[in-house]
Amino acid sequence: MKKTIAVLAGDGIGPEIVAEAVKVLRAVAAAYGHDFIFDEQPVGGAAYDAVGDCLPDATLAACRAADAVLLGAVGGPKWDALSPAQRPERRALLTLRKELGLFANLRPAKVWPCLKDASPLRREIVDAGVDLLVVRELTGGLYFGAHRRAADGRSAVDELPYAVDEIERIARVAFAAAAARRGRVTCVDKANVLATSRLWRETVQRVHDAEHPAVALDFLYVDNAAMQLVRAPGRFDVILTDNLFGDILSDEASQITGSIGMLPSASLRGDGFGLYEPIHGSAPDIAGTGVANPLATILSAALLLRHSFGLAAEADAVEAAVGAALDAGARTADLGGRLGCAAAGAAVCAALHAGRREI
Ligand code: NAD
Repeated sequence: MKKTIAVLAGDGIGPEIVAEAVKVLRAVAAAYGHDFIFDEQPVGGAAYDAVGDCLPDATLAACRAADAVLLGAVGGPKWDALSPAQRPERRALLTLRKELGLFANLRPAKVWPCLKDASPLRREIVDAGVDLLVVRELTGGLYFGAHRRAADGRSAVDELPYAVDEIERIARVAFAAAAARRGRVTCVDKANVLATSRLWRETVQRVHDAEHPAVALDFLYVDNAAMQLVRAPGRFDVILTDNLFGDILSDEASQITGSIGMLPSASLRGDGFGLYEPIHGSAPDIAGTGVANPLATILSAALLLRHSFGLAAEADAVEAAVGAALDAGARTADLGGRLGCAAAGAAVCAALHAGRREI
């Protein structure tokens, strides 16, 4: 299979972690006979420094032309003083999501068996099993509504708009994902207060009844969901929620798995095209020291293989290689180990080769 991947390393630890994910993708291509072309493009603060724009036209054009996008992270203190519209997170990330139509954000969070002790939760809670998927709406809601400050500067308004078709399409993604997992969707909202949440409930229930009656569906208020995530995370299979709640709950879910350095994400359009990135940021506090955990980015590459290229066996092999490397003791500092970023990437490549030999 011949495919082009736009590679946007970005800022901070972005170049370090993306380099390891690209190594793993090259190893997959060699082992399975694929031809992956890597089109490296600047994004974020690095692009601002180079050409005065956190999302240059050429970068966006390369993403549109590619079959999938692999992103590291953007932002950092050096660019915090830029105007809100030009800040890397808003200019690069929000524009990429909107321009590429990436409305569905999938964030799987699970506790790997050998990392149970890295979870801050009590062992009996972790032993009950933590393996959930947050399906977050990504191109609507509070982040894309109007943001206004009054002329006198003493009040401000952020609008939270949602339309039925936006809710229907993300609900379908969640139900399809649940049908392929343990068959349960929990829709998280604030329907006791927000009109948009009541629209979500009606719409999600209607899509469920008409199209996915075999999937179990329940609803939780977001405050309760935040509590249940640390009290009994094993109760969740797929969490379906809006842009704001999904942003917050998926970071909470990441912590119960042990490290934010382990959590991948996929941002999908309806046709299989997607952008793949770790859920963490650019970690300026450790950038350049070679200690970042590359596994979230490598696991994002596995999601890319599965969702955009339809290469399920290759994706399974990468995930199995990450598990095998962890089982063999490969641990970066965030997991209490001493391995550097490049050594962790090499451990996954070695496990991938070993796994191929066993087949
Ligand atoms: P962060 O996720 O970058 O870092 C939070 C903490 O987690 C830090 O202590 C960091 O060292 C650690 N960490 C993160 N990823 C790690 C990894 N792979 N291995 C080991 N440790 C890791 O969040 P932050 O510090 O709030 O944000 C830093 C910058 O990143 C900010 O400019 C922020 O706006 C930006 N950001 C970007 C994205 C993105 O590009 N998608 C997402 C979140 C934040």
